[in-house]
Amino acid sequence: MTDVFALPDAAWRYVRNRVARAVRPVRGRARARRRVAMTQQLTRVPARERCPVCDAPGDWSWRPVVGALLAFQWRLTSRQRAIVDVQQGHSCGSCGLNLRARGLARAILDVAGARAPLASGLASKPGLRVLEINPAGGLTPYLAAASLHVCTSYPAVDMQQLPFPDASFDMVVHSDTLEHVPDAVQGMRECLRVAGGGQVVFTTPVLPERRSKRRGRRALRSYHGGDGGRSVVFHEFGADIWRLLVAAGAVDVRLHLEDFPYVVTISCRGHLRPEGETTA
Ligand SMILES: [Zn+2]
Repeated sequence: MTDVFALPDAAWRYVRNRVARAVRPVRGRARARRRVAMTQQLTRVPARERCPVCDAPGDWSWRPVVGALLAFQWRLTSRQRAIVDVQQGHSCGSCGLNLRARGLARAILDVAGARAPLASGLASKPGLRVLEINPAGGLTPYLAAASLHVCTSYPAVDMQQLPFPDASFDMVVHSDTLEHVPDAVQGMRECLRVAGGGQVVFTTPVLPERRSKRRGRRALRSYHGGDGGRSVVFHEFGADIWRLLVAAGAVDVRLHLEDFPYVVTISCRGHLRPEGETTA
């Protein structure tokens, strides 16, 4: 005899099973597509002989890192998502640093006129003073090889109001920090000020197909994890990011491409200010 009270439960279980069975292949196909997309992208990453940071011969690993929520908030196409996956998830098997950090390291060596690997390259430049605005993607222990190395933490030390005199460093480095600074122009102006006529070298997420925009107050708040905290994203940068740098006082802007389109590192330089001129 059928237990009539068990029927709704059984019916519910039936519906749930039917739905799960219908959805499973769709989700599976989406995952498989993503794996294929990333593998296709990776085959186009030229194999560099050695890691510019730790000098280990290439032993790379990768894993996708962009979650569905972030992809939705940033309105990323599957190609853009795959690019960020490679940039952030393609790691050196020895030092563990991702492609973004390795691209930044190469740009730092480039503007310093030094040879890889990073630590010995910086150590070979006597008197080099480096300010790291925020621990830059795992490069901190390597940047410490510079003659003077100061590492602060944003937002504890505000990039818009740096507590250092003009021209107190030769190089200022930050990595994926600028998008979290409410007044990005003021932030870059301060970096250029403390760098004197020296270089500011940084990465920040840039979508070359778009124009820069400030995230609206009413937009869904977007966060990037990392550095143990969750920081609000104020800016989405696009192809016109150079305008921000010029507005901040840069007179020379360079793009350093690491297996484009995966990593674009930017370096810029301001005027060497004459003695006595104030920048406030
Ligand atoms: Zn490495």
